[in-house]
Amino acid sequence: MKLAGFVPLSLCDYPGRVAAVVFTQGCNFRCPWCHNGHLLPLAADPAQAVSEAHVLSVLAERRKRLGGVVVSGGEPTLQPALPRFLRSLKALGLDVKLDTNGSHPQVLRQLLADRLLDYVAMDVKAPWERYAALTGQSVCDVAAVQASLALIAASGVPHAFRTTRVDPLLSEREYGDIRTQIPLGSTHTWQAFRPAYSHDPALRTVCCPQ
Ligand code: SF4
Repeated sequence: MKLAGFVPLSLCDYPGRVAAVVFTQGCNFRCPWCHNGHLLPLAADPAQAVSEAHVLSVLAERRKRLGGVVVSGGEPTLQPALPRFLRSLKALGLDVKLDTNGSHPQVLRQLLADRLLDYVAMDVKAPWERYAALTGQSVCDVAAVQASLALIAASGVPHAFRTTRVDPLLSEREYGDIRTQIPLGSTHTWQAFRPAYSHDPALRTVCCPQ
């Protein structure tokens, strides 16, 4: 696994649990508000790289004090080693929460079938018709994101869909449109926009009322 960050203890990333957080290197989206710019390139910066062996060793030591591990990014489903890595976490007796942008439903389907996920959080970033523009990917496969959303909603696995409120880019009407994209019965939460570290420099000086 290409890892680029590790937080051994977090109280706010896995609902209701004390968890560690692992950040994977590389993302296929370029959301203008992304505040994890250093995680976006597929090639790891050696200065930021975190060894998988180190992460597993720390987790093994702390597993009795942790309620789970969050695998975030970047976009974890880009990495071919993800199933193997998740099996290593499960072998330690740790529950796994996956954070994803939903671009790889075939990976999600297999992870769910293999019972490697105990919680899934997926971003729903925009109304479908604006997805390509707001993920910075003119060829964004919206059908793939929709398939992931349906898969997660029907999985029976605890899950949540999340949207960052970026007022300079999305209107109230569009927030309403996003709500209609969330399947009935699924949790949807709004996340605060943190302009200071936005991927798009033009957003860094914007101040949004919360
Ligand atoms: S916010 Fe967008 S660009 Fe940043 S890691 Fe998530 S999906 Fe990738």
